[in-house]
Amino acid sequence: MTAAVSPGLPAKMHALVAEFVATPGAVEAAVAEFGSPAHLVFPQVFAENLARLRGQLAARVAEFRICYAHKVNQSRAFVVAAHAAGVGIDVASRAELDSATAAGFTPDRIEVTGPKGEALLRELVGTGVTINVDNLWELERVAALAPPGRPVPVLVRVSGFAGTPVSRFGVPLHRVDAALTLLAGARERIDFRGFAFHLDSGEPAERVRAVESCLVLTERAYAAGLSPSVLNIGGGFRQVFTADATAFDAYVHALRESLLGRGEPMTWGGNTFGFQLENGAVHGTPVFHKYANTVDAERMLAELLDTGLDSHGGRALAQVASENLLQVWLEPGKALVDHAGITVARVEFVKETADGSTVVNVDLSRDTVTPADQEVMVDPILVPAAAPVAGANRGAVGVFVAGRLCLERDLITNHKVWLPRCPVPGDLIVFPNTGAYHMDLSAARASMHALPPKVAVTQRSGTFRVCRDGDYRHEVA
Ligand SMILES: *Cc1c(COP(=O)(O)O)cnc(C)c1O
Repeated sequence: MTAAVSPGLPAKMHALVAEFVATPGAVEAAVAEFGSPAHLVFPQVFAENLARLRGQLAARVAEFRICYAHKVNQSRAFVVAAHAAGVGIDVASRAELDSATAAGFTPDRIEVTGPKGEALLRELVGTGVTINVDNLWELERVAALAPPGRPVPVLVRVSGFAGTPVSRFGVPLHRVDAALTLLAGARERIDFRGFAFHLDSGEPAERVRAVESCLVLTERAYAAGLSPSVLNIGGGFRQVFTADATAFDAYVHALRESLLGRGEPMTWGGNTFGFQLENGAVHGTPVFHKYANTVDAERMLAELLDTGLDSHGGRALAQVASENLLQVWLEPGKALVDHAGITVARVEFVKETADGSTVVNVDLSRDTVTPADQEVMVDPILVPAAAPVAGANRGAVGVFVAGRLCLERDLITNHKVWLPRCPVPGDLIVFPNTGAYHMDLSAARASMHALPPKVAVTQRSGTFRVCRDGDYRHEVA
């Protein structure tokens, strides 16, 4: 098979990241200094993503706040970049709160979401951070713990909107009256700022319904004598992984054919990726469908803000928020780090397995480049070793990439990927766009392997600089 006709899943890359990867010796120098494998983060790309979302909001709503959802990546450089840009931050643990504070975030720019226990709530009340309350127990505890004379800023997260799958998070709509009663009776202790929601799916229609519900609740809150001023629409703005939707579709078509026994085998160990095989046909939605998305976060946000609300005579969401003097808050995570991180590993060896497959073994494990149990449908990039190694095969080759754990399941790709030539020991493999959850969500220290170091890469006047993520400092451009 030649490179031109091999199925491929080319990655969309930011120009700055693509230039870094293509700069001879640049990736090799980074791992020579910090070790392989390594995660590389690009705070300038983060800042661009942020500026784009901000531009869409500024063009439409009077008052808004973007809170970077820290949990998407543990990188300090991203937190520093968010701070430098003047936005807020959404933290979901004590450690994330410390990280935000260390980067300079003051309490008025910090929102705390996620499930919180008694110990964390005790630390939060009185500090001035906004607590995005998940449930009635939290709300009662905040009211009980609040120090006299310093009302705790609170958002109430709600869930259970029509047509939305049940969520473990949030106060269900049918219990919101209990929350309002509590809030109305605790005005000296709780500064109720408004309603919040975060949907798992990112489906635009679901979000619009949730917004309409929150607008109704906001009116109910006013009727109860409260004065909410925030509408928090959560995160979930999508990433675009693919550089070529047609190639993506062609790959998936070939994959489906291979599941039916037509053409070359393309999956490891009989994996069907959530497809169902019935009566000689392939049905269902694959687990990896998000990698096919082509609508970026900026467009998703713009379209959301422009959506006419049936509940408000078709007036645009942005207009309704402004008319009601509601600040629009959002908590994007993955949208801000989209294209702002890559992971580099080194090829240790290449082998053939009993079924004739070629398996490329690298020095990291699946959990450090893959969020939870997903299959990442983005081609890795082969970066040849600095010194050309004798014996490198010529021509495209379909391989599976395997990790360094002695577990059968430590396959980094369960789908076949085509590389321009067969890798050899010493080559580097770059996994594109790993910044959102891929690096940090599931990473474990199995077999006592250390977690990969994190390295920040910046470009000034055409020159790349790398430093330890923890040492990153913001410089005014
Ligand atoms: C995870 C999370 C986010 C960020 O979600 P993304 O999909 O990364 O944008 C925002 N808000 C809350 C409450 C979350 O739990």
